[in-house]
Amino acid sequence: MTEDILGDIGVTVEWMAPSDYARGSANVIRLTMLPNEGGALRSRGQVVMGSATRTTLGTGVAWVYYQRVLEEAEHYDVSPARLLACAMAHEIGHLVLASPGHEPAGLMRAVWNAADFRRAAMGQLRFTAEGRRPGSAVRLRESQE
Ligand SMILES: [Zn+2]
Repeated sequence: MTEDILGDIGVTVEWMAPSDYARGSANVIRLTMLPNEGGALRSRGQVVMGSATRTTLGTGVAWVYYQRVLEEAEHYDVSPARLLACAMAHEIGHLVLASPGHEPAGLMRAVWNAADFRRAAMGQLRFTAEGRRPGSAVRLRESQE
C-alpha cells in the first residue's frame, strides 16, 4: 500500500534487501523500522510515528516507530498495516517531494487528526496536489536494526 500512495506522486518503489543496497546510490532511501522513537522525540508532547533526514552524503534516511504506529492504530481503530503504510509514505514524502515540508492537510500534515486517521482507515489518506513533482525512481532498503 505504501507503493500505491507513493505512486500517486509518480514515485516508483523497489524494495531491496540490505545485502542488495549499493552504498552511496543517490536514489536509495534507507528505511528502518524501530520499536520506539528516541528520547528527544518522545519528550515532544505529541506522538511521533516516524522521522526522516538526509545524511551528509545525501542519502535519504527514514525511521518508522512501530510501537507508536500500533498504539495509534488501536486508538483510532485503523488497520495497523494501513497506518504503517501511511507513516512510511509520509516519511518517504519528506525525502522525495519537491517541497518536502509539512502541509496543512493530507498525508503530509505534521500531526494527523481524527479525520486523517479515518481517511487512513479507508485508504484515503494521500498526498495533496500541492508539492507533488513528476516521478523519480526511489529505491528503498529494508532493514531491521
Ligand atoms: Zn513529517
